[in-house]
Amino acid sequence: MTETERTNLQSSQSPARDVVIIGSGPAAWTAAVYAARANLKPLVYEGEPVGTEIPGGQLMLTTDIENFPGFPEGVTGPELMERMRTQALRYETEVRSELVTSVDLSKYPYVVASSYSEPVVALTVIVATGAKAKWIGLPNEMRLAQHGGGVSACAVCDGALMFYRNKVLAVVGGGDTAMEEALYLTKYASEVVIVHRRDTFRASKVMADRVLSHEKVRVIWNTRVVDVNGADEITSIELEDTETGARSSLEVGGLFIAIGHEPNTKFLNGQLDLTAHGYIKVDPWRTSTSVGGVFAAGDVIDDYYRQAITSSGTGCMAALEAERWLAHHAGIGESPILETAEGPVPASPEQVEEPPADRRSIPRSRRESGAPR
Ligand code: NAP
Repeated sequence: MTETERTNLQSSQSPARDVVIIGSGPAAWTAAVYAARANLKPLVYEGEPVGTEIPGGQLMLTTDIENFPGFPEGVTGPELMERMRTQALRYETEVRSELVTSVDLSKYPYVVASSYSEPVVALTVIVATGAKAKWIGLPNEMRLAQHGGGVSACAVCDGALMFYRNKVLAVVGGGDTAMEEALYLTKYASEVVIVHRRDTFRASKVMADRVLSHEKVRVIWNTRVVDVNGADEITSIELEDTETGARSSLEVGGLFIAIGHEPNTKFLNGQLDLTAHGYIKVDPWRTSTSVGGVFAAGDVIDDYYRQAITSSGTGCMAALEAERWLAHHAGIGESPILETAEGPVPASPEQVEEPPADRRSIPRSRRESGAPR
């Protein structure tokens, strides 16, 4: 018996869950609020602290959030996440503080395995595992990032804060993200200094040209940032010339790391189609993935907006689509009305209407599926 078969067998002993949500950022908690209010008793795997990663996602590394509607005075990232979690728990949401180690999407119903508990059977799955910003890995980088000390991986999130106004701000990276962040920061900084490890940008020409012709931007080529100085707040960065090895210091009031993001998809083990950039592929203006009954939301599908509010939006969409999918395919609850000006939204991707022969038949009712009533 293969490990997968053993897992499926073990899992078949416990009742199937209508909605399993993987993640604990804005997309996951918004999906949980919607699914719970639809009486689907979602199970959320919120993860557990591992190294610099903590449940709650990237907002746990953000200090003040001033652009999430409804908080005119601003709110800290951790407080916003705590409030969303509390809101989800106000309804019938079960939370497990553990990591999902694997999912089996090869047969229906699906199986979700985690660090400590028995695997669970899931009738629908919402993947909201986010993306992590890549960090350089310097000794003081994370310390200052975590305490609002002037190191950030998101200019749009943090750049407008008073902390960064009228200061020299450094941006690390040479891709489109770095260009975007640098241009955004010109609105607030006295000067933006891009530090790039090579002598050409990887970014698209149009973005690079815009940056290079901006009067507030200066580029330091062929240079790495090798340390960040400052006890509570950043004071300067240490630079190293990649060709000569020469060291120098640059006084800055902020450091923005823009060297790319990595969507958290490893645990899927290739079972969902991904985009060319490694994000989960979803149908246009939907959260449905390449596997029926599996939805994805938040930064794990988004390398374009990457905002808390857009993550929440797609989390809401995923829960509504899961609710509709359960009504159509598992006879659970009533389908929410999702009509557009062009007519009803298709119930699911084509492959769900005709599941592959090696998949188990999709249960027609909650009773048959063994799901709790
Ligand atoms: P990216 O294209 O992979 O660029 C990452 C940059 O960071 C590269 O210049 C790389 O240097 C540098 N880098 C990587 N690791 C580093 C390290 N440890 N230390 C110093 N520098 C390091 O990532 P991205 O800019 O996030 O873009 C990802 C994708 O999203 C791209 O396809 C991009 O076009 C797209 N995107 C599009 C837009 C837009 O169209 N508006 C905006 C953002 C992103 P090297 O060049 O030397 O490798």
